Amino acid sequence: MNVDKKYEDNYEYETRLSTLSQSQFNSRAREAKERAKIGRLPDYIPRLCQANPDWFAVQMQNINDRIYQFGDLTLSFPLMSSVKPFILLYLLEEFGAEMVFSRVGMDPSDRPFNSLEQLQVDGGFPRNPMINSGAIALCSILPGSDGVSRCETLRLWLNQQADCHLFFDQLMLASVQSLPNERNIDLATELAASGYLTPPKVTALDTYNRVCCLAGTVIDLVRLGLLLVSPRNGILPQHLKIVKALMSTCGLYELSGRFAVQVGIPTKSGVSGALLSVVPKEGAIACYSPPLDKAGNSVGGLFLLEKLAGVLNLSVFK
Ligand code: GLU
Repeated sequence: MNVDKKYEDNYEYETRLSTLSQSQFNSRAREAKERAKIGRLPDYIPRLCQANPDWFAVQMQNINDRIYQFGDLTLSFPLMSSVKPFILLYLLEEFGAEMVFSRVGMDPSDRPFNSLEQLQVDGGFPRNPMINSGAIALCSILPGSDGVSRCETLRLWLNQQADCHLFFDQLMLASVQSLPNERNIDLATELAASGYLTPPKVTALDTYNRVCCLAGTVIDLVRLGLLLVSPRNGILPQHLKIVKALMSTCGLYELSGRFAVQVGIPTKSGVSGALLSVVPKEGAIACYSPPLDKAGNSVGGLFLLEKLAGVLNLSVFK
């Protein structure tokens, strides 16, 4: 029987994610929490800047529900850019790959996540769905007449598919809106001018801001990750493959290539300090630790992943 067949039959299978003891897991997580101290909180969303840099939570879960936890599992946080793989998944399921990739590219970028220059160099075609230009373009084609209904449709779909409890963080949205994000406005203007944003532009931006404010705990985030691990609920396997491939090549912005070499598992970060990694066919790891590196990725989260990937030999590039 081949390995895929085993999974299809829901065979009990010892994954690499179940081979650590809880105390081995804890000691790596403790180190990561310490390492987080060298990161900085983002200053362009006031409420994210008010986070406690010591907040830390992680859940690692395999497909047989072996769970490792460390930190304060009750902490909730906005997904921010860690929602981007799931906007993509939803639209792939809704419209198919041909339509989606007529609106967004699949190439990595070595520029920051909100780079206007990258979009201009590319003639207004957003390079991939994991950077802001690509996600804003995709938010413009989410079904629904306004940001509220589009965000709610995505939230309900994700909660149903992943069996999680995402909620909409209204206070976070107010904070996002309190300092208008000129860069995202410029990206949307450029996208609209090149025809890659379905108007109205304000609705696309409002939808983007709202979906970034979908919030939950690491328990919710790990469940979203498990959605990508192995096909279920009729989600097409080729769509899961596309999402994981783009997380691997673009998920950590300009650090994606380096991370692929050093860690080697599909991963997506968010400026809130959220970090989600997927180990195909085995499980997922979700971490929340607010201090960030220069590229906008969680310092503690990346450190922990590097440690876990090393000790468990998780890289998909074998
Ligand atoms: N809402 C954030 C922004 O547009 C998301 C960025 C991120 O999480 O990396 O700046």
